[in-house]
Amino acid sequence: MKALITGGCGFIGSHLAEILLTQGHEVIIIDNLESGRLNNIEHLQSQSGLTFYQYDILDFDKIEPCFKSVDWVFHLAGMADIVPSIDDPGKYYHCNVTGTFNVLEAAKNQQVKKLVYAASSSCYGIPDSYPTPETAEIRPQYPYALTKYMGEELVLHWGQTYKIPVMSLRLFNVYGPRSRTAGAYGAVFGVFLAQKFHNKPFTVVGDGTQTRDFTYVTDVARAFIKAAESSLTGKILNVGSDNHYSINYLVKLLGGEITYVPKRPGEPDCTYADTGKIQKLLDWKPEVSFEDGVSIMLQQLEKWQDAPVWNPDSIKQATATWFEYLGS
Ligand code: UDP
Repeated sequence: MKALITGGCGFIGSHLAEILLTQGHEVIIIDNLESGRLNNIEHLQSQSGLTFYQYDILDFDKIEPCFKSVDWVFHLAGMADIVPSIDDPGKYYHCNVTGTFNVLEAAKNQQVKKLVYAASSSCYGIPDSYPTPETAEIRPQYPYALTKYMGEELVLHWGQTYKIPVMSLRLFNVYGPRSRTAGAYGAVFGVFLAQKFHNKPFTVVGDGTQTRDFTYVTDVARAFIKAAESSLTGKILNVGSDNHYSINYLVKLLGGEITYVPKRPGEPDCTYADTGKIQKLLDWKPEVSFEDGVSIMLQQLEKWQDAPVWNPDSIKQATATWFEYLGS
């Protein structure tokens, strides 16, 4: 198949590119390299089936020709992180909503066979039940969550109206090699691994009993491929690990001292996907255990040597607007 990955130089996109190439597919990557990194795909550059374009999904005229005779589109380009989305919602709206619109229009014009969207489980906010099914109420807590959800709505609408076969995968706390090491205060693995490398205490939020559905990146990449291969369309599917793990347990596996930072407003005490639907419809199951995934991350600790090392003071500053706008 000829597959196009938007955001293919990012964390999840680069793993997806790698697996698709291994399976013998042709891969076209579009990435503006704002948060993606070329060295995420360096090890794939020698493969004949790979083409890379440094384009922004907001530049429709540039990206549209890349969709010519493409079979599968994987739309992973987008802006992540909570605090910058509160500070600069316009940027998130343009990238995550208008950018998705552009990708859908290009996919429509070129009549692709399947488009799979990387949606976010943050649309559930603080849900009423665990494990959380796809039918749970939509409660975005900040602009990042809202714009990713708006992107999902566009995808489903384009699928319904223009008959593009589409799937939306709601991802839960994805972690693994090549997760981001720079930029805004964000995902816990990047924060903790840099602290571990520099022998600084882990900044545990609240009392650390909160749990997350940590899902290993290659399991997520396989879900994207299963969704593309499937003949189904218009489905929303949770992608999770089938379990949830406390921050205290993560700290125990990583090993090190602890310091505490206050709980942030709007944060759920638990994320835990009900994966019954994806298991049934796509015959997909997570394969990498949390313990194995964490051990793989620990083996690559030196990758976090240049990552920002957060401490309670710098976290307080970095999350000031979060408390200001979302606090009661
Ligand atoms: N977390 C933490 N210390 C940090 C950053 C995050 O204890 O310095 C916790 C946070 O409270 C949450 C979990 O790690 O329970 C995952 O946080 P992340 O920001 O990675 O994802 P999200 O909160 O969006 O699920």
